[in-house]
Amino acid sequence: MIDTTRDTLKTSKPVKAVGLLSGGLDSALAARIIRDLDIEVYGVYFSMPWGCCDKEKAGTAARQLGIKFIVLQLDERYLEMVKKPKHGYGAALNPCVDCRIHMFSRAAQYMRHIGGDFVFTGEVLGQRPMSQMRQSMKKIEIGAGLEGRLVRPLCAQLLEPTVPENEGLVCRDRLLRMSGRSRRPQMDLAENYQITEYNQPAGGCLLTSHDFAKRMRDTLDHGYRNFRETIALKWGRHFRITKEFKAIAGRDEAENSALQHYAHPNDIILEFPDKLGPTVVLKGDHPTREILATAAGLIQHFSKFKDQPPRTVHYWPVSDRNRIQSIDAAKLDPAYVQQIYI
Ligand code: SF4
Repeated sequence: MIDTTRDTLKTSKPVKAVGLLSGGLDSALAARIIRDLDIEVYGVYFSMPWGCCDKEKAGTAARQLGIKFIVLQLDERYLEMVKKPKHGYGAALNPCVDCRIHMFSRAAQYMRHIGGDFVFTGEVLGQRPMSQMRQSMKKIEIGAGLEGRLVRPLCAQLLEPTVPENEGLVCRDRLLRMSGRSRRPQMDLAENYQITEYNQPAGGCLLTSHDFAKRMRDTLDHGYRNFRETIALKWGRHFRITKEFKAIAGRDEAENSALQHYAHPNDIILEFPDKLGPTVVLKGDHPTREILATAAGLIQHFSKFKDQPPRTVHYWPVSDRNRIQSIDAAKLDPAYVQQIYI
């Protein structure tokens, strides 16, 4: 069993650290180790709409550990990074090294804001091919402006000592030497700490999915108006009608309402008056009748009226629910629908 119960080194000034919390086991273990060193821990959670993290679990972990919990939102700067990552992509559109640099540098800003001493993460050396190899870990630390101030408690003994260790703020003997892809050591430690509630290791980041990557690439190439509307990339069927217009059709009630909720004020909502078909969100400014009829045609194509004469569809701008107008759905060739599908 790993012993992390000895007393920390004592210093006169209270030590503060910012830890990244994902809702997974590794970040919770790292936070526990640092908290047990009598260090004031600020758990930071990055709200990433297509990510693998779990805000609820991260919040629960913070509560159970008795540490502060701060949620930071990603914004357009993150999308710009995804568009052109300095260190390239993984298997799909996942810029893991730059993604970490982005998040860690924001955690670093927060650390400076609270007068903190270091940032820590639950990374394990060699656990992930792109971002947790020795060389990338160093690159991330430097890229985030955290040279010597990024502590990885789960594998610190396999890495060079950091500034807080050298200054005696963190006792290196209390840090661990985990490496590789096996989860056994983390699970043993979780048992030791009686931590039972945690997310299974990631794999849920949508940027690693080829299907999602196509949609995201399409959005980055054709432009977006704000970060919020890109949240809708994870729901529905997406169609690129022209360079300027795109339509998204919900696949069920939950998606229909989520798509409306995250629509941009300039988008148009289209539905059958009797709602017996999907809701479509048409993205783009000032659509022509032809574009509107195509978007309406998608509703009919994905409804039980697919092979029936064109039906009337209601549409209105997101910004004014009362401006309802009507249009007849265009009859869409299945090959065309396939061709515009993203
Ligand atoms: S998988 Fe890569 S891109 Fe996705 S959240 Fe994790 S580090 Fe970022």
